[in-house]
Amino acid sequence: MDYVIQPAERPSVAVEGTAARFPVRRIWCVGRNYADHAREMGADPQRDPPFFFSKPADALMPAGSDVPYPPGTRDLHHEVELVVAIGGAGRDLAPETALSVVYGYAVGNDLTRRDLQAAAKAKGHPWEMAKAFDRSAPITALRQASALGHPTAGAVTLTVNGTLRQKGDLRDMTWSVPEIIAHLSRLVELAPGDLIFTGTPAGVGPVVPGDVMVAEIEGVGRLENRVV
Ligand code: MN
Repeated sequence: MDYVIQPAERPSVAVEGTAARFPVRRIWCVGRNYADHAREMGADPQRDPPFFFSKPADALMPAGSDVPYPPGTRDLHHEVELVVAIGGAGRDLAPETALSVVYGYAVGNDLTRRDLQAAAKAKGHPWEMAKAFDRSAPITALRQASALGHPTAGAVTLTVNGTLRQKGDLRDMTWSVPEIIAHLSRLVELAPGDLIFTGTPAGVGPVVPGDVMVAEIEGVGRLENRVV
């Protein structure tokens, strides 16, 4: 293929137990998937259908990397989340069969410019500049579902400089992983390489340069990044 400019490198995520990497196509994110976080954001935690937003695939940052404090905000927030990696194609999937397209799982941090998000919400504007900015998606290596299984319970925590900020449990997700995949597959055709950030529990809050964020999900992984 001849291109008129040099094409960007394909974003990818490490996979535990192999030197081969998982090539990333799109990053989908679920909003308000834990009732306690919906409440802290001033929303009614009733079980409305899940809603989605996205980040560019090249927003991914590996575990251990330094995350630069982004421009345009004075209120950068952390959000620890279970990430689902899609390895198969599918549309109109039923929750009963949705897990068949899952390749694996990771721990992610859905970094958010909360002040820009609040302004966007107030004006009915899109969320991209609050959510889809450069280097806004730190993520651990994937663990393959063939080895890990499909986690449905386990502590979800985030500490900043060793102080506990977020604490939840996968069993408290409003929409389960199969339900999220089923909903999303009715809106877009899922494809190998898609990632889904599945929402965050309560306790989101600000970080500043020098802070060390440690996001952890029991049985899935540990994600450490320093803000610089
Ligand atoms: Mn989130």
